[in-house]
Amino acid sequence: MRWTDIAAGIEALEPANLDQDLVARFARAGGAGRPINFYTPTFKAYASSEISACGKSAWPAVSITGGECKLQCDHCKAKILEPMLAATTPEALWRTVNEQVAQGAKGMLLTGGSNHRDEVEYGPFLPTVRRIKDAFPEFRIAMHTALVDGALAREIAAAGVDAAMLDIIGAQDTVSQVYHLRRPVDDFERSLEALVATPLKVVPHIVLGLHYGRMLGEWRALEMIARHRPSALVLVVVMPFYAPAGRPFATPSSREVGRFFLDARAALPELPLLLGCARPAGRAKMEIDAYAVMAGLEGIAHPADGSVELALELGREVKVTPACCSIAIGEEVLALEDPAAARIDPRLMVEAEKRAASRISRIPVVAA
Ligand code: SF4
Repeated sequence: MRWTDIAAGIEALEPANLDQDLVARFARAGGAGRPINFYTPTFKAYASSEISACGKSAWPAVSITGGECKLQCDHCKAKILEPMLAATTPEALWRTVNEQVAQGAKGMLLTGGSNHRDEVEYGPFLPTVRRIKDAFPEFRIAMHTALVDGALAREIAAAGVDAAMLDIIGAQDTVSQVYHLRRPVDDFERSLEALVATPLKVVPHIVLGLHYGRMLGEWRALEMIARHRPSALVLVVVMPFYAPAGRPFATPSSREVGRFFLDARAALPELPLLLGCARPAGRAKMEIDAYAVMAGLEGIAHPADGSVELALELGREVKVTPACCSIAIGEEVLALEDPAAARIDPRLMVEAEKRAASRISRIPVVAA
């Protein structure tokens, strides 16, 4: 059966307007032969608000600068840091982790605002990171490293960090204009190279549409990543809630995003590709997620309704992990090779989605 017909037969995907040519390209590319893992907090608990559902995550995000960031990138303006737990001294970090462990945390995303060189100044915190890993060896730490040199990459690895994450930008204009950063684009690749040279699991991210909603350096970022051997690549779509009025962002179309999935899959055939939580909501998310399933991505955080069913219908081997990634994609990455991870039966999930959809369709619509 044609993939467009398969998608058309899935009730939850009815509102999606899928590009037929693109779907045909996905079918020819053969991505359905790979297993796929969906990461979802519960069946429906995240439907109303992903972020609040993730607030009590077993994976808190901790910022070593609180809400401070010198770079003030145009898509973020440091707002991503605001809801995080602030631990601005090594002592506060130790205290915070102890409190979180007592409340059941399994790990954390450790991050912070950048200085003017797009570096997060972790140096004074690394002995505490080591102390945390010695005291709680099972507690996983995923660190947003930002740009690093070889020495810092080695220190981060020696401190016991499990996964290192950084955004890879492939366009100099994006570096200078969106990030307000006076460093060559090659420094992003050099940082990746330095991290990959350590035993760390390294997970670069590409933010699609980072240049004010336009795709610009994304393909070069793929080339930069393909020259190294990270553990996985996370793709997210820009969510420019905080863009200044004078520099508005467009929303990349789901078709553009889908095309990029195809290019990413072709450029990095062996590398696990994960779709992170950040992407536009509503119909665009439904389309993006359907394209991700068809393109052969290995993981999707918080899938739109219909995605699991689509994957099953395409014959993909499906796992559903009841995990919330929030902004801490680390858990997804660390769970990739975890055969002991708890699973939800994907068919139960599809049934639950169908029951929820039929309840919604039975609600009478009253015209004013
Ligand atoms: S994306 Fe990172 S560096 Fe840029 S403003 Fe936000 S926190 Fe700061």
